[in-house]
Amino acid sequence: MTAEETLAQLAREVSVCTKCALHESRKKSVPGDGPADAEIMFIGEGPGFHENEQGRPFVGAAGKFLDQLLEQAGVTRSDVWITNVVKCRPPGNRDPLPDEVEICTSNYLQHQVKLVDPSIIVTLGRFSMGLFFKGAKITQIHGQMRKVEDRFVIAMFHPAAALHQMSLKPAIMADFAKLPELLKEARAELGKSSPRAKVPKKKTTSRRK
Ligand code: URA
Ligand code: SF4
Repeated sequence: MTAEETLAQLAREVSVCTKCALHESRKKSVPGDGPADAEIMFIGEGPGFHENEQGRPFVGAAGKFLDQLLEQAGVTRSDVWITNVVKCRPPGNRDPLPDEVEICTSNYLQHQVKLVDPSIIVTLGRFSMGLFFKGAKITQIHGQMRKVEDRFVIAMFHPAAALHQMSLKPAIMADFAKLPELLKEARAELGKSSPRAKVPKKKTTSRRK
């Protein structure tokens, strides 16, 4: 199977998954989406209200803000992979519990990361950051690119946090603005001199004017 087919297979498994208690209250699980050869993968926390309704990641208010941040950085959403630590909405948007994180990431996220094999992972929020930098403080490490095994990881604030705390907005905007430069750096370090995807690229669709 190609990476694309295996990702689709995983998504089908996620859609009917009952491996942790979060399946009991979900409407639609949210496997995540993007092209199998994406150079950048964003990992949020978990589906919220709108994601649970639609089965797609970052489609609510935080998602609209994420779209803006991407556009300002010259990155097209359809070029990146976007997913979450847990694939089902925690009831009332509570924090995911440690065993839910463990069960879901070991069954799904870890495979998705290997299959997409991005040059850069951007973690959004502390649960996602915690998968790569245990005990780190987001206020100290946000926006810094660090090598983790055979790729780079950058922790950023969660767009929803920046929406609620206006003081975080300039920081998240500045971190996103650095992405194209950091991507060049990551490609060079990883020896991927001929980029697989086209980030940043000129807009070819008229979806957003
Ligand atoms: N917040 C997240 O962490 N993920 C989503 O998909 C939407 C909001
Ligand atoms: Fe399965 Fe993950 Fe949903 Fe739990 S959160 S039911 S492990 S897909």
